[in-house]
Amino acid sequence: MLIIGLTGGIGSGKSTVCNGFAALGAPIIDADLVAREVVMPGTSGLTQVIHQFGKEMLAQDGTLDRDKLREQVFSDASSRKKLEAILHPMIREEMDQRLSRLDAPYVILAIPLLLEGGRREGIDRVLVVDADESQQIARACQRDHQSKAQIQAVIAAQCSRKDRLSAADDVIYNTGDLEQLNHQVTEMHNRYLRLAANKS
Ligand code: ADP
Repeated sequence: MLIIGLTGGIGSGKSTVCNGFAALGAPIIDADLVAREVVMPGTSGLTQVIHQFGKEMLAQDGTLDRDKLREQVFSDASSRKKLEAILHPMIREEMDQRLSRLDAPYVILAIPLLLEGGRREGIDRVLVVDADESQQIARACQRDHQSKAQIQAVIAAQCSRKDRLSAADDVIYNTGDLEQLNHQVTEMHNRYLRLAANKS
């Protein structure tokens, strides 16, 4: 199976592109969703996070207060390392298990922080979703109801557009409208089917 690592900055259009691939029948494994699932109530992931960071990281309803935890680790590199040491192996194992259950020509692993230190092993091609920074800001602000400054801070903490593009094997340019985007997704889908057929 051909394994595609899909990444891109905030608001670049990753989720929209994934939906497009999914509509064409491609399986998607979303690292963000897996990251949420491994700390759901009742998981050993949540137990370990609470053991490390304290009960104050729990919301009233017993779920992990992700915003509070993010705030704590954002400014403290050693806390962040501890959190990653708990979560990354679990996320990785869960993604690997899902991969092993799949039978498809290719699969998309959506990993927003792939180039900022996410898993690279096993990935055959890096697919970058690219957009202008002004478009990222406008789209993310509208979607998340956050300020321009908040989105700019996230962009500043992420890999630069130049570095991302130079790490890419394939690029989908989300600088036009949704129709242009879907057209590129269809072309990429056909390309991956061809590459997968040559790989096997
Ligand atoms: P990401 O997952 O990379 O953060 P999304 O796919 O969620 O980005 O896109 C951010 C927002 O912009 C969403 O509300 C989405 O519907 C919208 N969007 C994405 N691409 C386009 C486009 N080409 N034209 C208009 N809106 C778009």
